Amino acid sequence: MTMTINKRIISLLFALIFCVTLATPAFAADKVSENDSRIVEMREEIAKLQQEAKEAKKKRQSIESQINDASATAMQIQSEVYALQSEVNAYQSEINALNSQIAAVEQELDETEDAMDNQKHQITATQELLAQRLRAMYMAGNVSTIELIFEADNFENLLNRIELVARIAKHDNQIVKDLKDDIKELEALGEKLEENKVVLQDSKDEIVASQAEVKDAKAKVDSKLSTVESYLSKLNKEDAQLKELEAEASKQEAAYSQAIWKMLNGISEGDGSANLICPVPYSSAYISSPFGGRTINGRSSFHYGMDITMPGADQNDKRIIAAGSGTVLISSNSCSHNYRKYSSCGCNGGYGNYCVIDHGNGVIAYYAHLTKSYVSVGQVVNQGDTIGILGCSGYSTGPHLHFEIRTNLSGARANTAVNPANYIHVP
Ligand SMILES: [Zn+2]
Ligand SMILES: [Zn+2]
Repeated sequence: MTMTINKRIISLLFALIFCVTLATPAFAADKVSENDSRIVEMREEIAKLQQEAKEAKKKRQSIESQINDASATAMQIQSEVYALQSEVNAYQSEINALNSQIAAVEQELDETEDAMDNQKHQITATQELLAQRLRAMYMAGNVSTIELIFEADNFENLLNRIELVARIAKHDNQIVKDLKDDIKELEALGEKLEENKVVLQDSKDEIVASQAEVKDAKAKVDSKLSTVESYLSKLNKEDAQLKELEAEASKQEAAYSQAIWKMLNGISEGDGSANLICPVPYSSAYISSPFGGRTINGRSSFHYGMDITMPGADQNDKRIIAAGSGTVLISSNSCSHNYRKYSSCGCNGGYGNYCVIDHGNGVIAYYAHLTKSYVSVGQVVNQGDTIGILGCSGYSTGPHLHFEIRTNLSGARANTAVNPANYIHVP
């Protein structure tokens, strides 16, 4: 008898323990107090990180003002470089012009020389022709000049012959003389051209020298510029490193803050797995806008949740149920703008009336744009419990449920929001 009673008591105890286990969700982490040593440690860590970030920022601001100064200097030097370069270019175009003038003079010189050669050839040819003619005249009949003269039939004939010879000689001599005059003229022209060429060459040499001076000056400014530029790149590198340090500190700080927040609120941690059902419990429910990139009113954005609606959604009587069991983290009915709108009323960051439920294993779900949220913070709900009424509060162009799932709460929204389609099936 005693044994039976004891057994019964033990069974009852077991049953009680089992019930308690069931009633307390397996995911709910223990809430801890601000005095918990882990939280105290993390707060100290946060203070240290904030100090680090503050110092890095101070240093960065000083470096950034140095960057501004150095940039101004670099710009000034750069404009000097441009000015010197345009001087070099101006000299270069003068040099180019002189080069083409010199080339033209050289061409003229060549032509003059050719003309002189031509005249010399003509002189030679004329003299040869004269000689040939005389030879033909004297040698006809194999006689000497004297014989030619003495063999004349009569005196008149003789005179005629002498006259002819003299005339031919005179004519050809005139040609030769003219040609020689031409050559003299050409020689004078050639000398003048040579003089011109020397003058041109001299002014070119002068300009080349001036250009070289400017090039030297520019080389000095160039090296000054590259010094400032390498100094700038060093500063920029330091600036980037400090920015990275600040970002890393703020990331770590956020992680600690999240961890503290989770511990204080008893929020679950885990692998992000959950067994969820569609929170709009009607067979006519459908997805009106999936998770991911989308365009609204011509503006593209990323949709961090899944929009679910159904026919008759605007009647403010469609129930929203808990997609899984869990603990309510947030519940708000502060938005009084439960109607279609094309810009956000701003309530709760656009969520309007909404609730957030921790479904365990680090899975947190947002139920947004509700007509009304029925749950309260800390309330434990079971899967399928009615938690509110579908609506159009917050930034909502038509009545629907914005169902958003986040895992790994220690990061930003973009890193924590995941596709609800991996958790629920909408009919
Ligand atoms: Zn509102
Ligand atoms: Zn949405």
